[in-house]
Amino acid sequence: MSVESFTKLKEIESLNRARTLQLKAKLDQEDRLTKLLKRREEALTQSNQLKQDLIKAQDLMSEIEKKIKLYSTQKQNLQDLGGSDEKIHSYTTQIEDLENQGLQELSQIEGIEKELSETKTFLVGLDHTMKDIESEVNSEIDKINHEISTLDLRIKLLQDELPSDFKALLMKISSKNLAHGPFTRIDQGSCYFCRFKISRLEESEIDMLKNLKTCPQCSRIFLPYGA
Ligand SMILES: [Zn+2]
Repeated sequence: MSVESFTKLKEIESLNRARTLQLKAKLDQEDRLTKLLKRREEALTQSNQLKQDLIKAQDLMSEIEKKIKLYSTQKQNLQDLGGSDEKIHSYTTQIEDLENQGLQELSQIEGIEKELSETKTFLVGLDHTMKDIESEVNSEIDKINHEISTLDLRIKLLQDELPSDFKALLMKISSKNLAHGPFTRIDQGSCYFCRFKISRLEESEIDMLKNLKTCPQCSRIFLPYGA
């Protein structure tokens, strides 16, 4: 009777493991979408920054244009009025400097526009990828959820087949939600998980007599050797 119950516990243990793997697979699937969403957000932030940079560069460019126009007019006036060569030359130099600044600003604007267009292309591609991945992820998650409910059902059926003392103990220890589940084994005279030392007497009660016992330290249920 007790050997059979331990066989069921062992089966529950392996179903629990399969369930944990399914939950992990579900997280991995969800993670695929989260990662893409994060990349999308980054690209949008970058695109907004580029748009601001572009406006700034265009404003600067228009300032330069205005100055060139103003200085050119002033230079022309001086020339018409026969002003000093020195002053005329100073305007010429300033206009040349502004024209050089303008060239630099133009190549800056070109660079920003190129980057903006690349970001836009990236975002369009990403949206397509996200749609594909999203439907893939949703279908995977549906499969996983189905698998989990099948496992839950099998676990529940096995639990209901257990004698009441086994079932009560399993429910109690399971409710603690221990990492790696509610079961342990004796491994070289100690609890496999928490390394609590188990006496020879207790070891034989568990492994040979198949008594239902829990680890005094971590409270996991001992599955006998070869159960
Ligand atoms: Zn333990």
